[in-house]
Amino acid sequence: MERYDVTIVGGGHNGLVAAAYLARAGLRTLLLERLPHTGGAAVSARAFSGVDALLSRYSYLVSLLPEQICSDLQLRLQLRSRSGRVVHPHLA
Ligand SMILES: Cc1cc2nc3c(=O)[nH]c(=O)nc-3n(C[C@H](O)[C@H](O)[C@H](O)COP(=O)(O)OP(=O)(O)OC[C@H]3O[C@@H](n4cnc5c(N)ncnc54)[C@H](O)[C@@H]3O)c2cc1C
Repeated sequence: MERYDVTIVGGGHNGLVAAAYLARAGLRTLLLERLPHTGGAAVSARAFSGVDALLSRYSYLVSLLPEQICSDLQLRLQLRSRSGRVVHPHLA
């Protein structure tokens, strides 16, 4: 049986960042994800049938991912600005 120092349940963006930092710190880290893919709510999907548009479902604020984390984890993240105005349903 494999032994780990840390187990993280859930491979959303928070779990992935935590696992990356822990593994880089030398801890044997196990990340468990129930779905066949990681990313949690940050994964884009075709949310509306018949509409061929990939949307981030809940986690658009992942665009505020701190520079420090990108630098620490050597992420190749390119953010694109949008031309349209975003109306948030909670604020409308
Ligand atoms: C209705 C709604 C609207 C939201 N709107 C916004 C918004 O407009 N903007 C915004 O920035 N945020 C929004 N959020 C919040 C956003 O979804 C979270 O802040 C963000 O997804 C948290 O990331 P996370 O990595 O912690 O968890 P998640 O992205 O939720 O990922 C959790 C992961 O854990 C996995 N998991 C769960 N249980 C288990 C288990 N027992 N075993 C193994 N794996 C498991 C899941 O499959 C998933 O992959 C919204 C959330 C909801 C519910």
